[in-house]
Amino acid sequence: MKYNRILLKLSGEALMGQQQYGIDAERLMQYASEIKSVAATGVQVAVVIGGGNIYRGVQAEAFGLDRVQGDYMGMLATVINSMALQSALEKLEVSTRLLSGLTIQRVCEPYIRRRAVRHLEKGRVVIFGAGIGSPYFTTDSAASLRAIEIEADVVLKGTRVDGIYTADPEQDPTATRYPEITFDEVLSKNLNVMDMTAFTLCKENNLPIIVFDMNTPGNLERLLNGEAMGTLVSDGGTGPGRDGRKPLLDTKKSLLQPLVGNQPEQA
Ligand code: UDP
Repeated sequence: MKYNRILLKLSGEALMGQQQYGIDAERLMQYASEIKSVAATGVQVAVVIGGGNIYRGVQAEAFGLDRVQGDYMGMLATVINSMALQSALEKLEVSTRLLSGLTIQRVCEPYIRRRAVRHLEKGRVVIFGAGIGSPYFTTDSAASLRAIEIEADVVLKGTRVDGIYTADPEQDPTATRYPEITFDEVLSKNLNVMDMTAFTLCKENNLPIIVFDMNTPGNLERLLNGEAMGTLVSDGGTGPGRDGRKPLLDTKKSLLQPLVGNQPEQA
């Protein structure tokens, strides 16, 4: 397999399937079985799932309601989807843990980075619910942030379109797909990959993104097997590379070292 640890971002809207609202059971089980297949190969899988099939914070604003309240409602929607995915995975006998950015202790563990990493190391599929746990963010931002925190190799953004196109392929039949593109090109061509906060997090931390079609059965496994599909967004090999990414915590250095040096001299 090409990657050891992945963060899979699924949109809430994709969970609707052919429905207008809510969760389509068939689509949910399809996603669960795709995740099961890749987890069975030893790839460590973390998942962030959106909430757009149930609620989005901007809807509250459109009704003249408070945006922050709406965003919390959106975060709760992601918890509902995360719980559904967890159940679907458990039905397929996949070991899972749901970690939430909001404290909802009866149904989810709180998000603790070290705990998330430990679960992944033990082969459990980790689902991150409630986004970042703060309003004014999206689940794409949560996907980027959590992926960086757990040192995932890549963010796989599963969509209904099979990559990033020169123009909207649903509007323009001459649009062509980029097999690969750099972070800088995405910005200069003003392409819509993720919202800017989420995208900037990936760019600044040199975390590659692959946008691919998650709705074609077997695609996730084929992608991880190295089959060319979707669009890879990366630094194009110009940056320091993943290993050159700054570690979040340099465990070799004691955090207390600077303090020790500043101790007042003993009389
Ligand atoms: N949300 C938020 N903070 C987060 C993640 C999500 O406030 O860290 C809210 C926001 O209102 C968002 C909603 O949850 O609209 C649902 O998430 P999103 O729109 O990203 O879902 P998707 O488009 O992937 O279905």
